[in-house]
Amino acid sequence: MKWQKCGGRRRQVCPNCHYVLWSKESISVGGIVTKGDQILLVQRAQNPGKGRWTIPGGYVEQEETMKVAIQREIKEETGIITQPQRIVSIAELPSEKSHDVYVTFCLRYASGEIVRQPNEVGQICLTRASKRIAISRFDSTIIEY
Ligand SMILES: [Zn+2]
Repeated sequence: MKWQKCGGRRRQVCPNCHYVLWSKESISVGGIVTKGDQILLVQRAQNPGKGRWTIPGGYVEQEETMKVAIQREIKEETGIITQPQRIVSIAELPSEKSHDVYVTFCLRYASGEIVRQPNEVGQICLTRASKRIAISRFDSTIIEY
């Protein structure tokens, strides 16, 4: 693939078959997990944002729905089994290389004990906070991301 002007902007084009990569997306998901009036937060163990408290989440893998991806990420990072409720926000960052889309779900705790995944997660807590506070905190996290 080579970068060249095509259809009014620089795009990646195959010099052999002239295939044009019109767009490339990267989808990430985050989960606000509620258990009663508590919310599940994780502390990032890696940069960017090492030491910062955030909600669990990660990249959507090939052939995986976003719902399945967020349940998998939460299970991997915290050991918790969850039930997705609804999408609460969609954030995006389009650039020349990739259109990054970040979808935040609300999920309900279903079962399981907290088991920390030490590579990605420093600490885990269930904390009392209003959903509104958690979501606004998350929105600012997306923008910094
Ligand atoms: Zn080709």
